[in-house]
Amino acid sequence: MGLITVGDLLSYYPRTWEDLTQITPLQGVRAASGKVTVRARLKSFSGFRTSRRRMFLINGLLEDDTGTLKVVWFNQPYLAQNLKKGAEYYLSGPVKDQDGRPVLTNPGVEPAERTPIHSGRIIPIYPATAGISTRMLRRWLKDSIATIRELPDTLPDEIKKNYRLIDRAHAVENIHFPHSTPAIDAARRRLGFEELLLVHLGLLLAKRQWEELPGSAILSFQGDPFGATFIKDFGSKLGFKLTPTQKTAIKEILGDMAKSIPMNRLLLGDVGSGKTAVAAAALVATVKAGRQSALMAPTEVLATQHYHNLQPLLAKFGIRTTLLTGSTKLHDYSEIENGSIDVVIGTHALIQKQVVFKNLNIVIVDEQHRFGVRQREKLKNKALDITPHYLSLSATPIPRTLFLGLLHNLDISELTAVPAGRLPIITRLVTERNRDTAYKLIEREIADKHAVFVITPLIDEVLDDEQERASIASELRSLKHLFSKARTSSIHGRVAPEEKLKLMAAIKNGGLDILVATSVIEVGIDVPRATIIWIKNADRFGLAQLHQLRGRVGRSGLQSYCLIETALEDETDIERLTSFVKITDGSKLAEIDLGLRGPGAFFGSEQSGLLKLKIANLTDKRLITETRAAAEQILRTDPTLVHHPELKSKLQFDYVTHEE
Ligand code: ADP
Ligand code: MG
Repeated sequence: MGLITVGDLLSYYPRTWEDLTQITPLQGVRAASGKVTVRARLKSFSGFRTSRRRMFLINGLLEDDTGTLKVVWFNQPYLAQNLKKGAEYYLSGPVKDQDGRPVLTNPGVEPAERTPIHSGRIIPIYPATAGISTRMLRRWLKDSIATIRELPDTLPDEIKKNYRLIDRAHAVENIHFPHSTPAIDAARRRLGFEELLLVHLGLLLAKRQWEELPGSAILSFQGDPFGATFIKDFGSKLGFKLTPTQKTAIKEILGDMAKSIPMNRLLLGDVGSGKTAVAAAALVATVKAGRQSALMAPTEVLATQHYHNLQPLLAKFGIRTTLLTGSTKLHDYSEIENGSIDVVIGTHALIQKQVVFKNLNIVIVDEQHRFGVRQREKLKNKALDITPHYLSLSATPIPRTLFLGLLHNLDISELTAVPAGRLPIITRLVTERNRDTAYKLIEREIADKHAVFVITPLIDEVLDDEQERASIASELRSLKHLFSKARTSSIHGRVAPEEKLKLMAAIKNGGLDILVATSVIEVGIDVPRATIIWIKNADRFGLAQLHQLRGRVGRSGLQSYCLIETALEDETDIERLTSFVKITDGSKLAEIDLGLRGPGAFFGSEQSGLLKLKIANLTDKRLITETRAAAEQILRTDPTLVHHPELKSKLQFDYVTHEE
């Protein structure tokens, strides 16, 4: 369970609690009492095996000063060896009706000579796993808490007083073995406060470190303070008109780049909103100022696509661009080092050692959630004397409250509108009943020379390459059979990169009608002539992921369709998919995903690490605000946390430790 130290165990918090404080006198136990806790002597008991059903039974009689009660245990032979006749126990369990008489059935039991931990109090219920029961955890936690008399406090007295927080030892004890219901709330508040405070401290320190980095080169737009002339000039070279939100985003980016503090900005925009053009503007502006820029994408296909789209555009500005991926090795890396290349577009091949820049000044990372923090840091470190400006692009919608309250070390530009002239994508759930209609639609679109994507997710996570190929091959066969006139092909993990690129080019240029894939085309792929995406076993995907896939079509003025299919008849699956049919707003889908699957469902490695909160509730706006104020207050008087060693040692965020 990842619990290595006593400290780990202490912060393994209960999932919930059950109040078993109320002790019922035996006289008061009725057949309809439900669950009860009693304290009684075991007057007699006997254990035996039933002949027919080979079940082990213990029958017993309990007694207290008010009366008696029958008790029965099933299949717990070891218990028969441990029970002592005449001893006193706490017992807690359901009362069943046996011919009108109450019988305590399979109760949890523990000797009354010790303070009880499984009953007779508010008991913690832990998330358990196979072989480790909530009872075992309770015992270990009780022992651990008993041994740590002195638990150093992490929070300064002043903060505790200001925000009315109990001390740490108290909180730890009460989160596990609460003395009362209000004590749970106090403990939870205290521990959640600490947790969020640490998040804020991490963010604020990272931000400060970021701002103190050696001043990055200043790009000045002299005589063009808002970059208006630049944007006009840039826009005139595009094949379309920039949307107002694209223009605003470019202005914000130019504004950041004109400062000596390195930019740290996230460009957030739904799939198809045109983030690439905004990124291109940043590339051009940087090169115009005599500096190099780099654009990193998570897959080879995507990097290549960016290169093919951007290279001709950048060439119009006299910019020399190169592509660098795992399969496109450069002949001459010195061209990057001596500055004859201005822009390098590539995959994580960009971070390899041979790549040395002359004067890298901006790093742009597409689909940033696909990369680890380390990979991005490495690319940033390619700028020798300065910290480059950093712009990340993401289509993953994140609930606004999180951004405003927590991720405040980032500046955000948002593309809120998709380019004009787009038709809303029609989404349909395909079932046996309308399958023929779906086929007809596909035939019609192919006849109209449009392209179709078919996504068949891996049925089984453990499928290896060979099995993946087999499953795709069988899908391909059935499609060829169904749509015999169509030119159909497939992409899977084993397809060589050059072959992949060829297939992508074919589907883009009209050399192919149907392309089958697992989910390689999930991110970023831009094929304007694609009008149908047919997603099989759609239940395999999260809503945000489905939304990404849907964004592969509807990228032109053509009416597009997203067909989703599931073999499952599970109601919650159907409900989830039905909401996907109805909702087109990515951030709404994200909220639903958040509710259904928690933050891990759609946050990237950075954010999910950041938001792996054990106890604080991310929707608790008040706590988020309070902890932020407290973090600022602490840093005001102790900017390096030297006087708060406990807090400092607990700060373990990736990027903070990385900087150290
Ligand atoms: P994403 O934000 O998903 O990365 P892209 O940058 O790939 O989206 O843009 C999607 C498509 O829209 C591309 O074909 C691009 O050329 C086009 N596009 C971008 N901006 C505009 C615009 N202002 N008007 C029309 N088309 C645009
Ligand atoms: Mg993109």
